[in-house]
Amino acid sequence: MDCGTIGFSMGDANLDNPVRIALIPGDGIGPEVMAEALPCLAWVASRGRKIEILQLPYGAEHYLATGETLPSAVFDNLRDGCDAILFGAVGDPRIPDGRHAEEILLRLRQDLDLTVNFRPCRPMVPGFDTTVDIEVFRENTEGPYCLQGTSEPGRAVDLAIHTEPAVRRLLEAAFQRAATKGHSLILAHKANVLKHGHGLWLRVFEDLRTRHPEVPARGMHADALLCALVQDPRAFGVIAADNYLGDLISDLCAAFVGGMGVTPSLSWAPHHPFRCAVLAEPVHGSAPDIAGKGWANPVGMLLSTALLFRHLGWEAEATAVEAAVKNALEAGAKTRDLGGELSTAAMGAAIRAGLPS
Ligand code: ATP
Repeated sequence: MDCGTIGFSMGDANLDNPVRIALIPGDGIGPEVMAEALPCLAWVASRGRKIEILQLPYGAEHYLATGETLPSAVFDNLRDGCDAILFGAVGDPRIPDGRHAEEILLRLRQDLDLTVNFRPCRPMVPGFDTTVDIEVFRENTEGPYCLQGTSEPGRAVDLAIHTEPAVRRLLEAAFQRAATKGHSLILAHKANVLKHGHGLWLRVFEDLRTRHPEVPARGMHADALLCALVQDPRAFGVIAADNYLGDLISDLCAAFVGGMGVTPSLSWAPHHPFRCAVLAEPVHGSAPDIAGKGWANPVGMLLSTALLFRHLGWEAEATAVEAAVKNALEAGAKTRDLGGELSTAAMGAAIRAGLPS
């Protein structure tokens, strides 16, 4: 594999069965926010967690220099030889068709079967309504993002594929989460128009609704849902949606908690088909408009790292990172997107200062 390998292990001198985490910083602000996550990995290692980090160079720069997006041998090694991926962002104006982004990020999501994309929106930024607590469960591998379609003069077709196994996995995860949290569950759909694809979603949803009588669950047309969300976000708990609607709804929900810079996400394969079954990444993209300026907010990346820690069973570390973020924000630490002046690095340092030793 074309990568640097760093083994972090303190407290326990050998690296028997370390958790192998691949780092793909990617493009634009991806490497800038990833630079703030790396010390958190060193911090968990300093607490005795055995991890091994693989730094991977894939992204626009590497593609333009070599023509490589994500080589098959590297993908195979990630799938079978790693436990988790920490991802920055991909997307670069020099590659307007986004080919490299498709072949890196969409391939990882699809070929690792990372069906469930979890996007929690919990306010930590002072001034935002702290009673909002929305969690979006977005199907991550299908729908109109399956990249199948055709273009010809005057006509273009994008296919949207929905399969029962993926829909069922996503909805089952959403029902389980709603049951655990005691929240309601809304399925966002447009089955009145998208009769085939969203009709399948509704059928599976009805089946699971009868199996989870403890969860107050109902479907809503996505357009009406957006209006209701803006009117009263506090009325919502868990929202499940296909890939496309989930993408839109979660970006809207980001506005309730401080914007694109502060929202995390975690994707996983509940059926665990491969060794590597989880990927953490911020909700935001590569933000070319602010890349290289040191303005990016690292909070979304750090909260994604916390979600990964929790997924790995490192609850104390996950909670500590989340508390450090919250405390730094409450103490007034802010990047420009939040109306402050801190650089990405200064914001990362302010947060890390709150981590227990
Ligand atoms: P993608 O489709 O890849 O998710 P996008 O088109 O949604 O990307 P982003 O890259 O997420 O776009 O950027 C949207 C806006 O949010 C931009 O104006 C960008 O500057 C801002 N933004 C995104 N991430 C951050 C961040 N971490 N800190 C500050 N501003 C950000």
